[in-house]
Amino acid sequence: METKVIKIDRKNIEQKDFEEAARILRSGGLVAFPTETVYGLGGNALDPSASQKIYAAKGRPSDNPLIVHIAEVSDMEKLGTDIPKEAYALAGRFWPGPMTMILKKKDIVPKETTGGLDTVAVRLPSDMIARTLIKVSGVFIAAPSANSSGRPSPTTAEHVIEDLSGKIDMIIDGGHCDIGLESSIIDLSGDKPLILRPGFITAEDFKNVVGDAEYDKAVIAKKADKNIVAKAPGMKYKHYAPKGQITIVEGTREHVAEKIAALYEEGIRSGKKCAVMISEENSGLYGDIKKYLIGKRSDPITIASHLFDTLRLLDEDGAELIFSESFDGLNLSEAIMNRLRKAAGYSIINTEE
Ligand code: AMP
Ligand code: MG
Repeated sequence: METKVIKIDRKNIEQKDFEEAARILRSGGLVAFPTETVYGLGGNALDPSASQKIYAAKGRPSDNPLIVHIAEVSDMEKLGTDIPKEAYALAGRFWPGPMTMILKKKDIVPKETTGGLDTVAVRLPSDMIARTLIKVSGVFIAAPSANSSGRPSPTTAEHVIEDLSGKIDMIIDGGHCDIGLESSIIDLSGDKPLILRPGFITAEDFKNVVGDAEYDKAVIAKKADKNIVAKAPGMKYKHYAPKGQITIVEGTREHVAEKIAALYEEGIRSGKKCAVMISEENSGLYGDIKKYLIGKRSDPITIASHLFDTLRLLDEDGAELIFSESFDGLNLSEAIMNRLRKAAGYSIINTEE
């Protein structure tokens, strides 16, 4: 299949530019598009065969449910049932935006879209390209991240082309995603709100609206633990993995730099291609070894939005051993470290222990 790539100018969004993509979606095809979080791989959420195509294109296990993107807050009533008052409060505060809510599903949502579950994930994105596409197509769009399963999520159209060219009908190029990490997910289908995935919207933000919101244990785990079973099926898979092995080094700034330099030297001596992933502020601590500067600690969104790009770059450069600083203690740390710990397969060294 030939994948058509179209560019949309964010400063000049015109409905007519979306008509071809909308036709593809209405006829059961797949279109990748930018959102404020990461690029999504979209298909008609109410068409079971479109959902099956999404799983096939990504190589994604079919029990890993998809998020359904909607155009209006009231659309959640078309997809969900027994919607609690917290859902309206959260939608009022964080939609349009990087928040996904899990609701009990209505029968019209096929099990192919929800990975066999009785619940549905819904999100109203703020990105104007995503919103215009949903509106013009007139369908609810099931869209997981537009990467091959197991690769870092895509934050540019080039990443989507790398992973999915030839496997989907169209890619809409809208430039780099603003946030660069997937949406925060909160489950409202149980007795009390449960955070299933940390993102730009933090636990504290959720608590400010609904009072009580706990993290699912698997989300905050610092180790892989077989006894902790994730509530969201997708969370059990190794995710966001680059080809090299990442080791995260925690501790004081100086001890981390010393340890990383030592590990780097050791890796080089054993003939491996090594790299270090650090914040801009600490660049001076590492001499002239091969550094990947991920962003600024003083502006954590720069770290969030470049995490996946940097992991892909490390792959391209053929890094075999990657030593990363930890990015704890920042306001987006939960979201950043949740991805980084998974990417590292929980390989973490603490220099203070
Ligand atoms: P992605 O769009 O690739 O970021 O993946 C979507 C993720 O949303 C899945 O891996 C699940 O963790 C989560 N998710 C989607 N639907 C549900 C649901 N019904 N219940 C729990 N988690 C869900
Ligand atoms: Mg994903």
